[in-house]
Amino acid sequence: MAMVILGIESTAHTASVGIVDETAHVLAVASDMYRPPSGGIHPREAANHHVDLLPGLVRAAIETARIRPREIDGVAFAQGPGLGPCLRAGATVARMLSLTWERPLVPVNHCVAHVEIARVLSGLDDPMLLYASGGNTQVIAYARGRYRVLGETLDIGIGNFLDKLWIGLGGTFPGGPALELEARNGSDLLDLPYSVHGMDVAFSGMLTAALALHAKGAARADLAYSVEVTAYAMLTEITERALAHRQRESVVLGGGVACNERLRAMVRTMAESRGGTMFAPPKPMCVDNGAMIAWTGNLALKAGLEVPVEASAVEPRQRTDLVPTPWRAG
Ligand code: AMP
Ligand code: MG
Repeated sequence: MAMVILGIESTAHTASVGIVDETAHVLAVASDMYRPPSGGIHPREAANHHVDLLPGLVRAAIETARIRPREIDGVAFAQGPGLGPCLRAGATVARMLSLTWERPLVPVNHCVAHVEIARVLSGLDDPMLLYASGGNTQVIAYARGRYRVLGETLDIGIGNFLDKLWIGLGGTFPGGPALELEARNGSDLLDLPYSVHGMDVAFSGMLTAALALHAKGAARADLAYSVEVTAYAMLTEITERALAHRQRESVVLGGGVACNERLRAMVRTMAESRGGTMFAPPKPMCVDNGAMIAWTGNLALKAGLEVPVEASAVEPRQRTDLVPTPWRAG
């Protein structure tokens, strides 16, 4: 059988185990998301959730994949960026499996994994990635040995922004999907700060302004609609500028916010108007998942990027553009 890697994702609220072979065939994904009872994510409680659930998710993924542990050729884990306690929960399970099964341990950058799963599913060789998730908002492209961050949020991730706004409007986590439904009932485009700074964006000013409009009695549906249109226009603008500068044509999406139909449509319209294409992976492959870690682990292991357990510390602030990607060379 082709090389098979088990991958563990635990950077934030999602604990997930994926099993993927070297042709990017997903044999199994088992996930469970920590949902705080109120407010935002608490790192230690999310980590406790992952510690409790990961062993069962490993078992479930192996059963779904219908393989035996000895048929697994390597164990990949998300090394960063993410919340320290959450990362350590996944890394500890990965080290244990690697030692028990006597298989290589392969660290994977979470953002690179979003790019790689979108790249292989799209069939596009060298697309631009708009990565829009809870904690991260980046425009990424490959150049000379690394994935480069061309633009990003200067404050909070777009997903965190949507979640905070929705909680401020009286809802519960996660806010993005609920806001998307609410926005369908909105029609009045309210004036909100449009914060694009060169290749970068910022959202906290829009959060303050939207909550102030809410306090003055603006309808929730109009707020949801206006926030979506304004925030997604900002992301579309920096993605378009990146395409123009890098003379690229195609865009792939990643991250939980890439599930959003309005964002998909706006980026598609922009890309197609330039003669390019837009590809958004199926939603389970946009959100955080173990399959993208396993797939990137496949690429990394073939390029020789395994590490001994002693050198497998997590890196909560790991930067996309500092991670070597030798499989892309040449
Ligand atoms: P991730 O961090 O990639 O796991 O994605 C989680 C984030 O995606 C959360 O902030 C969610 O609110 C957001 N999200 C999920 N679905 C949607 C959607 N349909 N529209 C906008 N945001 C979404
Ligand atoms: Mg993510």
